[in-house]
Amino acid sequence: MTKAEQEIKKFENGNCEENRVFYQAMEEVIYSIAPLLESEEKYTRHAILERLVVPDRIIKFKVAWLDDNNNIQVNTGYRVQFNNALGPYKGGLRFHPSVNEGVLKFLGFEQILKNSLTGLPIGGAKGGSDFDPKGKSDFEVMKFCSAFMAELHKHIGARIDVPAGDIGVGAREIGYLYGEYKKLTSSYEGVLTGKPFVFGGSLMRPEATGYGAVYFTETMLEMEGKESLDGKICTVSGAGNVALHVIEKLQQIGAVPVTCTDSKGTIYDSRGVDLALLKELKLERRASLEEYVKVHADAKYIPINEYPEGGHAVWDIPCYAAFPCATQNELTDIDAQNLIVNGVVSVTEGANMPSTPKAINDFLSHKICFAPAKAANAGGVAVSEFEMAQNASMSKWSFEKVDEKLKTTMQQIAKRVVLTAKDYGVEGNYVDGANIAGFKRVADAMIAEGI
Ligand code: NDP
Repeated sequence: MTKAEQEIKKFENGNCEENRVFYQAMEEVIYSIAPLLESEEKYTRHAILERLVVPDRIIKFKVAWLDDNNNIQVNTGYRVQFNNALGPYKGGLRFHPSVNEGVLKFLGFEQILKNSLTGLPIGGAKGGSDFDPKGKSDFEVMKFCSAFMAELHKHIGARIDVPAGDIGVGAREIGYLYGEYKKLTSSYEGVLTGKPFVFGGSLMRPEATGYGAVYFTETMLEMEGKESLDGKICTVSGAGNVALHVIEKLQQIGAVPVTCTDSKGTIYDSRGVDLALLKELKLERRASLEEYVKVHADAKYIPINEYPEGGHAVWDIPCYAAFPCATQNELTDIDAQNLIVNGVVSVTEGANMPSTPKAINDFLSHKICFAPAKAANAGGVAVSEFEMAQNASMSKWSFEKVDEKLKTTMQQIAKRVVLTAKDYGVEGNYVDGANIAGFKRVADAMIAEGI
């Protein structure tokens, strides 16, 4: 039995359906770091894996609130405080019906290594609720956020745990959550990031994850000796915060993003996505992508159920670089085969864990430049840390300063990942490179801090 298999055996009990994505993430890391565990015995001696895969604490609470018809609604709220060896707990809040403890454990676990990779002083956490903001009025969202914060405020603080946004939690929700925190504590502190600029938000936070994924890709391609993205056809999934800003940055550097998706379908616009229209549909009108073809009749709309099961239309479109930016497990092995057959050169994960394990194996075995989420989408959390630094020093940085620091951070992460893969004998495998580099920094801190 290999070292990785021995480690996995220890965690097999309790592998219930709710924890499936968590085990998927954990297994990937355990296999990846096997070369490190073999070469440096101290990590096994200090039981780092056993300690790292168990959250420091999971806070689970009832959120009762009144809807617009004065009916009482009840949801469940969570905060998974996973590991604070490197700094205060840090990670987003997700409001979506699919949220449960297992999903948040998966996201929190990934967050530890992602935050470690940035080189910044932040630990790992994740939280959220099964509340669905879709179709709710602003007042309902406000009332839910107030009720959610009524419990959460007991567990967070600028030096303790600093939540941010994620799916379903944008500037509106962060604003309401922050307002309630302030009311409850009378404290004006940087306890949440992703705040609107007028009361402590950082410039560029909305752009950070998407821009960062493109900066990462540029460095990775350069280090691999591949052609740059300039003039290249790119496919992007999602039409939310990450996808919109990947598309924006790709257009700024001369690439041609031709797709976007939402939960109902895919847009393929061979002349390049109309970003202004996309922003209007998604940010202002919160409308379906189907509306896009009412303005651009020559673009194609493919409803999600009109593509053979197991695959997704967006990954069947030939491209140089692909950017899955919607949700987990949205790029399957069937999709990977289509991308490979169509000549894809790089795949960058903007979303968290969008590629299935089989798809990742296909990319790696075909020597596709594959940028895993925990490295490629770390730009969001990096700028969140910049927001914490600005709040702590009561200062405001310019857009250019934040962008420059983001670019440098993403270039450093890419170099760290590429070089670590090389150092540990897995050249070109950036999944292993990211896992080893992320694990090593947090593990060394845990050893130094004692049990
Ligand atoms: P948003 O909620 O802003 O957008 C998500 C988008 O994906 C929406 O357009 C949604 O469609 C679409 N979508 C959801 N499910 C599917 C599906 N099954 N198939 C196709 N499209 C789908 O989220 P973000 O852009 O903020 O986040 C996207 C991903 O990136 C998540 O995995 C998140 O965890 C990750 N991430 C986000 C960061 C950030 O800074 N925002 C930071 C790091 C990671 P619809 O419009 O119909 O709902």
